[in-house]
Amino acid sequence: MKTAYDVVIAGAGLVGLSLAPALSRTGLSVALIDRGSMADEERSAETFDTRIYAISPGSAAFLRAVGAWQALNRERITAIESMHVEGDGGGSLDFSAYDLGERALAWIVEERDLRSALLRTARRAGVHMIGEATLDALTWSAAAGTLRLADGRVLEARLVVGADGAHSWVRQAGGIVAEPKAYGQTAVVANFECERAHHGRAHQWFRADGGVLAWLPLPGRRMSMVWSAPDALAQTLLAESEEGLSTRVAEAGRHALGMLSCITPASGFPLRFLRLPTSVALRLALVGDAAHGVHPLAGQGVNLGFGDAQSLSTVLAERGPINDAGAPILLERYARRRAEPVLAMQAVTDGLARLFGPPSPWLKALRNAGISAVDRLPLLKRALAQPALR
Ligand SMILES: Cc1cc2nc3c(=O)[nH]c(=O)nc-3n(C[C@H](O)[C@H](O)[C@H](O)COP(=O)(O)OP(=O)(O)OC[C@H]3O[C@@H](n4cnc5c(N)ncnc54)[C@H](O)[C@@H]3O)c2cc1C
Repeated sequence: MKTAYDVVIAGAGLVGLSLAPALSRTGLSVALIDRGSMADEERSAETFDTRIYAISPGSAAFLRAVGAWQALNRERITAIESMHVEGDGGGSLDFSAYDLGERALAWIVEERDLRSALLRTARRAGVHMIGEATLDALTWSAAAGTLRLADGRVLEARLVVGADGAHSWVRQAGGIVAEPKAYGQTAVVANFECERAHHGRAHQWFRADGGVLAWLPLPGRRMSMVWSAPDALAQTLLAESEEGLSTRVAEAGRHALGMLSCITPASGFPLRFLRLPTSVALRLALVGDAAHGVHPLAGQGVNLGFGDAQSLSTVLAERGPINDAGAPILLERYARRRAEPVLAMQAVTDGLARLFGPPSPWLKALRNAGISAVDRLPLLKRALAQPALR
């Protein structure tokens, strides 16, 4: 059986889930497919998700426009009001939301909460959701993309969107070839109960081994850690007992929040950089991690993805007399709008990850002096913060 849509989105991660209702609200018929379930997960208010996101004020505004931000439980959202960044040789840098004229530098949200709010929003917006589906084949004609599922269903769309993550099947089927580059680091994430209150302050340490340790505030006296560690160290951290990990993390952060106690199991995510030659092809657009991969040191991966979703939905909403959602002129417009912000964020995050890699003493002195110099230049600091905020 063949069903026709304006847009079929493959991948219901946070980015695909935000794009679907945004497109549906512009009057397009939209199907959203994932290999996983689209059912709401059972969750206990007592527990915290290990996966958390720092959502920028710009992304929060987009999610509000889509209708998902207001569906979140306010008590589970924490504002990052300030941030302290330390280099590996005495350099330091402070950001304050107040100084930048913002309520928060970013908002910390648990993945399961955001996912559940987006699922409800997509359903309300009339998106056709197809969970537990296996993508079998994708073919193209001048007028449409045709997606075959393993159970025999066939979906035809003017535009196929690949939102299926870093190892995108759709990207490959569309002939966009890319080799992700491993950073040789794994991000270890876990949540902790802290002895001292965090007062909405985030911490980040660039370490001498090239790794980056970040502590992000959670509700109450809790925090979430993202430790982008060299692979070997990451394996050691993941093998630690809860007590052992708590001690190591507290020491690595110089007991900035006193003693720590681990409240979620640690998980590891291998880190890769991905730059594509293009994010569009015939009747195909890529969004989110399918379109780019960045180091999580600036907490910008999903924010870039929400930026893609916002741009693509705006371009299609402003399509005027063009009633073909996959028209090449619209896709080129989308690709042009995203090229510069994606390249800029990749240059900053990849540049910082590499700057703190080599152990050379003169580079160490230079990078720490650089960090402290930026701290003394409010206009430069503001200019650096703006892309991350928006
Ligand atoms: C440790 C860590 C911390 C991070 N912290 C932050 C942060 O604080 N802020 C931030 O902005 N970003 C952060 N990021 C980045 C962020 O996690 C990613 O950028 C984001 O999750 C990408 O979302 P996505 O929807 O594009 O892809 P994904 O989340 O990978 O979703 C892809 C979806 O596609 C589905 N799928 C895949 N293949 C198929 C297939 N063949 N058929 C059907 N469905 C398929 C999957 O089931 C999944 O639902 C962090 C990353 C890491 C590793």
